Amino acid sequence: MKEPIFLSVVVPMYNEEEVIEVTYNRLRTVLQSLGETYEIVFVNDGSRDRTAAIVREICARDRTVKLVDFSRNFGHQIAVTAGMDHSSGRTVVLIDADLQDPPEIILDMVAKWREGYDVVYGKRMERKGETWFKKTTAAMFYRLLRSMTSVNIPVDTGDFRLMDRKVRDALTQMRERSRFIRGMVSWSGFKQASVEYVREERFAGETKYPLRKMLRLSLDAITSFSTKPLKIAGILGFLLSAGGFIYLIVVLCQHFFTDTTTPGWTSLIAISLLFNGITLSLLGVLGEYIGRIYEETKGRPLYLVSDKVNFTSEARDDRKLTEPVGAGAGS
Ligand code: UDP
Ligand code: MG
Repeated sequence: MKEPIFLSVVVPMYNEEEVIEVTYNRLRTVLQSLGETYEIVFVNDGSRDRTAAIVREICARDRTVKLVDFSRNFGHQIAVTAGMDHSSGRTVVLIDADLQDPPEIILDMVAKWREGYDVVYGKRMERKGETWFKKTTAAMFYRLLRSMTSVNIPVDTGDFRLMDRKVRDALTQMRERSRFIRGMVSWSGFKQASVEYVREERFAGETKYPLRKMLRLSLDAITSFSTKPLKIAGILGFLLSAGGFIYLIVVLCQHFFTDTTTPGWTSLIAISLLFNGITLSLLGVLGEYIGRIYEETKGRPLYLVSDKVNFTSEARDDRKLTEPVGAGAGS
């Protein structure tokens, strides 16, 4: 009988061939020093480089390393979800592949977990080697998100965190498509604590989060935790139509009681531009929500796996097959 796994480490990877070996070695050193059973679940998010091949090599010589290989790129948050789905530890750690989150912090997280916390998230005290633009937009985003949502999402945290099994189970039950895992963890409640750390520079390669993906994540975060934009849209619409109505009265009065009615197409154009712009952007807000409703109603699986390596009897999927059939199952 195999010992149950104490710690699962989930590492999402998208074109990370330059960092995997080093990340694996550092993770292994840290995890071995912990003196507990562990597994490392690498999720290959449709990389176009040698990422999967390198992980396969590692898997062949180290059975504690597992690979979930996606059929294509599904995005970071989905890759992390797949890693959690496939992890069987008493605790689960999410960490980036690029060593920006130092693996050594995992030891502090485990210590906090032992004190009785269910979620221990890493709080970034300083971010090295990231552009001024990324830092300011990130800071603005976390604050905007806080002001928009009723869920208490801690500022300046990423997905680097340790979770108890029960939190992981709660999260794997949430199959929504627009995923903002930090928010979902906060939403789930449980006893949370933080450990502070300095976010290092990316070890090698460049960011896999271009502005486009960052914007998408921010939109997912706001739309899945807040309907405030819809309310703001409504209030704005109301204020504008009230303003428009007042202006209409002014114009009518001018027409009937004075003879200063100017040809005035300037004001007309100005108003029509302004109102059209606002109407269109409000429609855009609606569209963001409706698009997400549409995506959810399709009910597709969150990701497709093309291959799995090193998942043996202790893996969840396989365990299901070997579990005895319950008494009520018609036998
Ligand atoms: N990542 C992924 N799929 C993607 C983009 C990124 O799995 O589509 C992974 C990436 O390999 C890394 C983590 O997500 O392990 C964080 O990405 P990155 O370090 O590029 O983001 P940044 O730290 O610059 O925000
Ligand atoms: Mg990074």
